[in-house]
Amino acid sequence: MKLVFATNNENKVKEIRSMLGDAFEIITLREAGIDIDIPEPHPTLEENAREKSMTIHNMTHQNCFAEDTGLEIHALNGEPGVRSARYAGEQKSPEDNIDKVLSELNGNTHRQAQFRTVISLILDDKEYQFEGICPGTILTERRGGKGFGYDPIFVPDDADVSFAEMDMAGKNKFSHRAKAFQQLIAFLKAH
Ligand code: IMP
Repeated sequence: MKLVFATNNENKVKEIRSMLGDAFEIITLREAGIDIDIPEPHPTLEENAREKSMTIHNMTHQNCFAEDTGLEIHALNGEPGVRSARYAGEQKSPEDNIDKVLSELNGNTHRQAQFRTVISLILDDKEYQFEGICPGTILTERRGGKGFGYDPIFVPDDADVSFAEMDMAGKNKFSHRAKAFQQLIAFLKAH
């Protein structure tokens, strides 16, 4: 089965492709010849994921999925959450975003957080959603050089290294995106 993955984030494509068996083929936006910045205008991950999958479905008329992810920090009332990409401004800089989280949590011992991914799948013109949550802790400084986004400051529960210190297979054992994607695969296999 072929599915268009409605993202321009190559890191997300690599993570998802590393989990795929032979039964599914992922087509990226670039491979589908689509070059747009997909809007994320809504106040929830669910609505943004749907906006992205619907936008691409309307352009390609193919089965497709999109995901939206947020880092939800308990001591910050769930922030940055849906604003994770633009937390420190419209430049969408991962470095600035991390600096802002570290500064907001400076001196705070309550560092529990979770990554949450919502996948929106459009299959035969119907929408289905899947959620994956990875609980963990925010470090006081960066650790590791792999991964992307907030990975250097996030240690999942039951791990002793940050996401940025893990290889992709290691991250996929814990990650929000892997959990949501496993549900998507199970759904497609049962469908
Ligand atoms: P979006 O889902 O692409 O809108 O991502 C929102 C923000 O969360 C961006 O700043 C991403 O870099 C960051 N992000 C998304 N997924 C991950 C992840 O798996 N690890 C670390 N940061 C992530």
